[in-house]
Formats: sequence, C-alpha cells, structure tokens
Amino acid sequence: MKIKGKKKILVIYTGGTIGMKASPNGYIPVEGYLNEVLFHSSILNDQIIKNNDENVFRLPNSEKHQNNVIYRLLEYSPLLDSSNMGMEDWGKIAQDIFENYNEYDAFIVLHGTDTMAFTGSALSFMLKNLQKTVIITGSQIPLSELRNDGLDNLLGALLIAGNYEIPEVGIYFNNNLLRGNRVTKVSASELEAFQSGNYPPLVKVGIDINVNWNAVLSAATSLPFSIQKEMSPYIGTLRVFPGITKENIFNFAKPPLKGIVLHTYGAGNAPANPEFLEALKFVSDSGIVIINCTQCFQGNVEAHYETGKILAEVGVVGGSDMTVEAALSKLSYLLAQKLSPEEIKQEMTKNLRGELSEPRKTKFSFKDKAFIKSVAEVLDSDSGEVKTALEPILLCSCASLGDVEQLKAMIDNGADINSSDYDGRTALHLSASEGHLEVVEYLISKNVNLNPIDRWGGTPLQDAIRHQHIHVSNLLTLSIGKLKQGNN
Ligand code: ASP
Repeated sequence: MKIKGKKKILVIYTGGTIGMKASPNGYIPVEGYLNEVLFHSSILNDQIIKNNDENVFRLPNSEKHQNNVIYRLLEYSPLLDSSNMGMEDWGKIAQDIFENYNEYDAFIVLHGTDTMAFTGSALSFMLKNLQKTVIITGSQIPLSELRNDGLDNLLGALLIAGNYEIPEVGIYFNNNLLRGNRVTKVSASELEAFQSGNYPPLVKVGIDINVNWNAVLSAATSLPFSIQKEMSPYIGTLRVFPGITKENIFNFAKPPLKGIVLHTYGAGNAPANPEFLEALKFVSDSGIVIINCTQCFQGNVEAHYETGKILAEVGVVGGSDMTVEAALSKLSYLLAQKLSPEEIKQEMTKNLRGELSEPRKTKFSFKDKAFIKSVAEVLDSDSGEVKTALEPILLCSCASLGDVEQLKAMIDNGADINSSDYDGRTALHLSASEGHLEVVEYLISKNVNLNPIDRWGGTPLQDAIRHQHIHVSNLLTLSIGKLKQGNN
C-alpha cells in the first residue's frame, strides 16, 4: 500500500562498510562518523530536529516524493564488522525493533554485507506478525569514499520505507529490494552484491520505484507483533563433495548438534554410497534434524533422481528452494522452540515467512481417477446442459483409465453408455484402444453399441487391432459375430 503523510523511520546502525573510514589497518567502523555524514549531507537531510541529545533528520521532499520522512539514527556500540556478528546481535536488533515498534512506521538496519543474508533470514523468523517495513542495507564501498554505493542504498531504503508499506524483512541493494530470507551474497566486489535465485525482487528502483505487489507478503494478521529472541546455536551446515565419508558425517554430527543443513548437489542429490547413507540414517534416527538444500544458486530440491530419493528414505527432509541461510536460521528458530524432531521436520517443509515455495498442488485432470469421481458426484445433482456436456467425457476418461467401478456407478446412475465425446469416441473406443478387457466385457454385458464410428471413421475393433490388444479384438470379433447371427 502507498502511504501519504509524515513517516517516522528508525535507522538502526549496527556497523559494516557503509560507515567505515580508512585506517592504516584497512577500513574500520568509526563511532559518530555516520551521524556526521548525515548531518552534513544535503541529499539525506534538509532539516535537523534536536531530540534530547540526538539528531532526528528530515529527508528532503522532491517532486516525486512528498512524504515528509523523518528518521533517527540509533548507533550501536561497538559498531561491528558483520563477520563478527552472531545470534545475540540478531536478538538485539529484534529487541530494538520491538521496543520502538509503536513509535516508528518503518525500520532500516544498516549492516555489513558479509552476513547480511543470514541476518535477513533470521530476522524474518524472529519478527512475528510483522506489519511494518523492515529494510536491511549497507554498501560495498563506504560513504567516506567519493564514489560509493552507500548513498544510493541508504537513500533508496529511506524512500521505500518512507513511501510504501512492505510488511516483511527485505534487503535493499543496488536498486532492488529482495526478500530477506531469499537472498545470498553473490559477489565480494560487484555493487550487485546480493541476488535472490528463486524469488523475484519485491521492489525495483529505476526511473520509478516499482513495487511488485504480487510478490509482497500480506500483512493480514490480527495477531499482535511479537519477537522470538532465542535462537538455538546447535546447528551446522555440511557441504557434500565427491569423496565425502561416513567419518565426515559422524565427526560433524556430534552432541550437542541438533540440526544440520546438508548442502547437496543439483536437485538435492548425494552419493548413493551405502555407508554414507547409513551414517545419515543413524544421525537422523538419533534425533538430529537434517535438511536437504541444494548447492545451486537457483532451483529446487526435488526427488527426481534415485540419488535424491534415497536421502528422503534415510530421514533427510527436502528443503525445497530455501537458501542455506534461510534453512539454517529457520532450523535455529524452530529448535529454540523446544519442538520434537518430528514437529521440526514438519515445520521445515512449511512456508512460514515466504522463505520457500511449497510444491504446487497437482493440476486437476481427466487422467486423475479421484478428480473424475468428484466431478461425477457433482454432476449427479445436475440434470441440465453441464451434465449432458461433461458426462460423455467422464465416461471416456473412465474407460481410458480402466476404471470399471466408476464407469458402473455412472451407468447405474443413468449415464448414456453410447454417448460420445467431441471426436465421436465412445467408452468402447477408449477401452478397446487401451486394451482394458474388463471394461470392454462390462460394456458388452450392458449391450453397448459394438460398432460406433468416430469422426475419423474408426471403430473399437479397429482400435483394438491397431494397438495389438488381441484379447480385446477377439472378444469384439466374437460379440459382433454373435450379434450378426442374432440379427439374421
Ligand atoms: N566485512 C564487512 C562487513 O560485513 C563487509 C561489508 O560491510 O560490506 O561488515
């Protein structure tokens, strides 16, 4: 939803390159420096409002953006290189958002890029029933450099957070707002440091700011916002590689470990080596939850191949298209809830915060017996044109699938045994073509027309002969012969 009027944003500054300055030992975060940059920037502020000891900044209005956005900088001490961040730091960010939730309309977290994807994933789970925008951003080049990406990233994040309600945790970088738990750091040098392999950007910033509302999570929840600060540290990720041994597994899966993200090949495959599989089964049976995530940047874990299926057979749970960052933090989040391994396995396959795509429901098809049965049941109560139009198709579908029971049920309910579909094909044509002897016998016992002609001039007997269904063609030849004799 686009919003108008004054918007208050809390900018939580945890550290990272964006606010660093050069030192003899390389870039380091410097306390107070970002505040100074904002203070002197005519792009990021056109008015400074003193609030106790702190500065509150106002984002300049422009022709396109008249929203009167004001923001406050909450600087952490010490400022951190994100490589030094851990679960407690996520808890602190979550706590600060919680404490300021009612006072601010949106939140921006300034953060180093190295572990930004982990924080994006973790916060998406830790913030529950989120109804406000949370954007994490940072930069590859510090604001202290003349040419940098920090200014664009911070300005873009402020404009999106100040103008739109996107009620999820996003990562804004290089003109794209991506879902926080779908993101991976893909480059240590390019300004496009992050990509989301399996989900489209929530917002693309070009000449205009384009929000892909279809991709944004809905905030439709009546439950109050809350946080879960505790995360379980008893997790780990194990990358499968050619030559991986059972010892690798056992050495890794030692107590107090409770959850493993197994980083597999392609569509979720691993070596079909019995010792390796037995080791995984042993670990899984001991109550350690193992989640299968692909090493590929794009795509899904699906049990297409034998090498993928056997992992499922030894208790490894498919992680769909989750990133490793998302799977790890989701495991950590669920383990902290003291659920049983079985409950955790179930939750891991569910879509909790848009972090995974659930398998598509099978499409309805007239090749599906259950679907035909349901349609036939609905048609029972119809006596009009829909029934007349659909009944022949259902009869033909049952005949083609060899579903005698359903065919009987429909004919007992008054369906016309000789009705044909739009190609003039009858149930007898279909069952003869597919060689379903039992269906053909049943239809003959019900005095079906033995010689219907389809639109190509074909009969059931010709179908049976063409497809070499000898028993069916013998039966039809015999029955047609008897009929002729009877007629003479
Ligand atoms: N090492 C830095 C960090 O993650 C890198 C960055 O911010 O881009 O904090």
